[in-house]
Amino acid sequence: MTTSTPASMPTVTSSSPATETVVEVRGLHKTYGATVAVADVSFAVGRGEIVGILGPNGAGKTTTVESIAGLRTADSGTVSVLGLDPQHDPAPVREVLGVQLQESRLPAKLRVAEALRLYASFYAHPKEPDELIALLGLADKRDTAYENLSGGQKQRLSIALALVGNPQIAILDELTTGLDPQARRETWDLIEAVRDSGVTILLVTHFMDEAQRLCDRVIIIDDGEVIAEGTPTELAGQGRTGVTFRMRLPQPPQPLDVTLLSDIPSVVSTREVGTALEITGGPTVLPDVIIALHSRGIVPDEVQTISPSLEDAFVALVGHSSQEIPA
Ligand code: ADP
Repeated sequence: MTTSTPASMPTVTSSSPATETVVEVRGLHKTYGATVAVADVSFAVGRGEIVGILGPNGAGKTTTVESIAGLRTADSGTVSVLGLDPQHDPAPVREVLGVQLQESRLPAKLRVAEALRLYASFYAHPKEPDELIALLGLADKRDTAYENLSGGQKQRLSIALALVGNPQIAILDELTTGLDPQARRETWDLIEAVRDSGVTILLVTHFMDEAQRLCDRVIIIDDGEVIAEGTPTELAGQGRTGVTFRMRLPQPPQPLDVTLLSDIPSVVSTREVGTALEITGGPTVLPDVIIALHSRGIVPDEVQTISPSLEDAFVALVGHSSQEIPA
């Protein structure tokens, strides 16, 4: 069995929002001592979009979004939130931008409704806490102390707190980290409902499935720089060139001569995946393989083409899987 990796890399696309720009970041640069957290980041977010900020750990995602929220001071570059500068106009920015930060923690004894009422008191035009409690499915937990909430409920409360100021833009950081699959799906439905209510969402995530499912556009940051941006479908299409498919071969009396496949010019790589054989190659690889097998009297079962994914693009761009923490 021969294995090789397609060498071509996706090219960087540049896309801009189709609607009115509500957040604009230009040439953002931020260092901590000798560490360059953000080298040079520029992008724009349009009203009503869900934009994903993706990248490996330490890429500079949190520094970028916290600079947008005015929580960190950049060394250079500009940030505009609805035309306001978060450094110079922190109070009006706080009224239009809600932030759900990583691992937001509340006092253990604070109850759900109390927390929302407290946070609502910080804003000029807050949302009605009961409305948010209902939207986020926390009605039967309104009198429950923070310490007694499940991970999913704490997460929903932190989203509610990000929305209680009635923001036009919400920044959600590592939204579903630590949640079980069902809680993740429920959270995704919730985020779509929030967007449908008119809120623009900037979502920091290292989950490609989450980005593919939720985001209108994604921005991939690595080593403090934007290395790609586009719709999930555009980026996924660049992550893998050519065609990939899997098939199962009937057990022949003689084992398959591996050179039969590797000699086909359009085959780039083959690998075994469980009991299936995965083949990647040029545009004609599928008929070429089927015809070659047919010439030996072999009819494959369960031929299945594999759609390119955002994860493929991430691996091609960043050099490792989105779930791998680089050394
Ligand atoms: P990400 O959110 O993509 O994981 P961060 O923005 O948190 O990335 O961090 C980018 C880099 O800056 C990392 O190397 C991180 O260790 C460093 N960094 C972030 N915040 C601080 C800080 N407050 N002090 C020192 N270094 C920091």
